Amino acid sequence: DGCIKAVGQADVIRNQFSGVTFENIIDCSGKCVLPGLVDAHTHPVWAGDRVHEFAMKLAGASYMEIHQAGGGIHFTVEHTQKATEEELFNTFKHRLERMRRAGSTLVECKSGYGLNLETELKMLRVIERAKQSMDIGISSTYCGAHSVPKGKTATEATDDIINNHLPKLKELKLSGEIHVNNIDVFCEKGVFDLESTRRILQAGKDIGLQINFHGDELHPMKSAELGAELGAQAISHLEEISDEGITAMARANCAAVLLPTTAYMLRLKQPPARKMLEEGVIVALGSDFNPNAYCFSMPMVMHLACVNLKMSMNEALAAATINAAYALGKSDMHGSIETGKQGDFIIINAPRWEHLIYQFGGHEALIDYVIVKGKIIYQNERRGTMSSY
Ligand SMILES: [Zn+2]
Repeated sequence: DGCIKAVGQADVIRNQFSGVTFENIIDCSGKCVLPGLVDAHTHPVWAGDRVHEFAMKLAGASYMEIHQAGGGIHFTVEHTQKATEEELFNTFKHRLERMRRAGSTLVECKSGYGLNLETELKMLRVIERAKQSMDIGISSTYCGAHSVPKGKTATEATDDIINNHLPKLKELKLSGEIHVNNIDVFCEKGVFDLESTRRILQAGKDIGLQINFHGDELHPMKSAELGAELGAQAISHLEEISDEGITAMARANCAAVLLPTTAYMLRLKQPPARKMLEEGVIVALGSDFNPNAYCFSMPMVMHLACVNLKMSMNEALAAATINAAYALGKSDMHGSIETGKQGDFIIINAPRWEHLIYQFGGHEALIDYVIVKGKIIYQNERRGTMSSY
């Protein structure tokens, strides 16, 4: 069934399963077995990369300046609207394969580069197809409120989502065509304000979606307080969270999904990870893979979390496994090596697991195997021949 049968000391397990024949035995002497990594925040379905904007950003342009100059998300939306479903699926599939090779076995995947109903549904169908056909766990998120589409006000966009997009999603869920898990809104000054965010999230919750949204990133918006009040499963970013927001999230068991790659690449203020941890917030990590922050690698995200967010390596690993699974409402079956949970592992070619964080960008040489539901879905062809030192 792809689930873990037993966990324990080698001699105990050997006795328990003596006489049992196995399809596959992996010798892990001198290696470490870790739970598969969980990436709690990605935007992986899009067309048209934004490599040209990187130079602008390096020259000092801010996210909002590029956005207002017609670049940024509008550029991606335009290209994604034009792309065929097949084109989007093919690039998405390769990105998922790259995520798996970097150790991710469960990833959250958002729509949000369509903004109109037709393209949002196209993106969600692409995600659904990968869910059905690929050996990787996917939690899908409707993010139609990622940006206000050109020609609409935020209120008009909010009404369109509530009156047209969400009823369609409900219908497709009932017919079994698309199974969306979460609802997301970019709650930000000049995008969706607190009131529009509240209306969209509540309407999503009413059709059975988990609330998991972007908040308090560029400006303090009281998104954390709103999320705690609405019973959000998770809130992402939180660079500008208030002290009251931290207390509210801790009390509500609402996970904070921190995205150290974005804060690093956009040179934002870092989210107050230490304060959150000290106050008892469930801290998770995500790569935020998107055309603006091109990073698939959870080992690199963990490294940045340690260096820039001042998390310990143990905290970073928990944030990239069990806590990230919690942020997706899936910690009952994912995120740790326990009997009865899904058999998702990575095996690394090092005697201490901390090498995965310590060797910045070294995961390609370190990860020997990635296993999903007990099935080997990636093995490093150079394993055994290449030193990881
Ligand atoms: Zn994001």
